[in-house]
Amino acid sequence: MKQTIIENDGNDIFVTCPHCDNCEQHNIDAQRWHLQSFEVTAVIDTDNMPNESVDYSIALCHNCNNTIKIIWDYDNIQTEPITDVIFRQFKQGYDLIAIFPHVGEINHGVLTYMHVGQHSAADYDTLLRNTKLVRDATVYEDLRNELTDIGYRLNIIARQSPQKWLKSYQAF
Ligand SMILES: [Zn+2]
Repeated sequence: MKQTIIENDGNDIFVTCPHCDNCEQHNIDAQRWHLQSFEVTAVIDTDNMPNESVDYSIALCHNCNNTIKIIWDYDNIQTEPITDVIFRQFKQGYDLIAIFPHVGEINHGVLTYMHVGQHSAADYDTLLRNTKLVRDATVYEDLRNELTDIGYRLNIIARQSPQKWLKSYQAF
């Protein structure tokens, strides 16, 4: 059984499925079985187990139907925030682009990343017209790995939330 260690940013914890892109954000004080996309089927209390110091749960990932072990290690502090990303592919040329739809940029734009050229600002609506959504993770795997190698922690989504974009643009 594959396992995942929760990540703690001080306010929320994050549970990421080791099999798929399913990641759930959860208030640090909320009950463990209140996870929506993971169904906790067993909670192992390690108080009386000398070789285990951290509690863990057995849970079913509703996204990929794999059973995983969740390690509730609240000391696993992550300071790098999680960034929403959309992977799309240009209709002409088929180049892949990572769009950060909630990172506001100059001229009402969003931040993007491509293998060649790397970061740049772009207009979201223009990108929507010129690209199509990539759902197959094997297609964007290399670009995703490139991003995680430079320090990104990614939450893969399919579309922009205008409210989230506006909030980031106002802070830009
Ligand atoms: Zn999963």
